[in-house]
Amino acid sequence: MKKLLLSLTAVIGLAGAPAAGSSEEIMLEMIDYIVSETELEYNGEQLPFVIVKSIDEICQDMLSPSDYEIFSRGGYCNYAGYYDPTVRTIVVADEPVKYMVAEKYYETILVHELAHYLQYLNGADEHVQCRNELEADAYRIQNSWIDLKGYPEEQKTQGLFAKLNSMCGHP
Ligand SMILES: [Zn+2]
Repeated sequence: MKKLLLSLTAVIGLAGAPAAGSSEEIMLEMIDYIVSETELEYNGEQLPFVIVKSIDEICQDMLSPSDYEIFSRGGYCNYAGYYDPTVRTIVVADEPVKYMVAEKYYETILVHELAHYLQYLNGADEHVQCRNELEADAYRIQNSWIDLKGYPEEQKTQGLFAKLNSMCGHP
């Protein structure tokens, strides 16, 4: 009986993770949506890689060594994911960051980072004063996709936080 329980857990564990076969379909549906909501174009280019990392690993990637040192001593770091255009890779945190919830977390981060993928594909990063300016559209897409799909309201990034993160000169 114990063995059976263990193998059941393993199956449930797998079912909870995004299936490799369907993740391409989800990405293409999201990309279609982003294209319809922005000036960005998509012409069948290679899709980004998607990998999952712990929040700690993501903070290590995103922060300078001295800021990471502060974070590891109890500082604040709340990155849900990021897009690395140099290796065309989307990184998603393996658990919800503060203020977000588990339900549809992966999909929420995916649609946000796919907006960045398309921005870089279209050279939008060359037409902004700073990287933060790219966030405004990514948040707008994230929030309207959440409405469209009926994801939990907690997954939205709104208000002052979204504004600050979209401003140049703000880390
Ligand atoms: Zn972003």
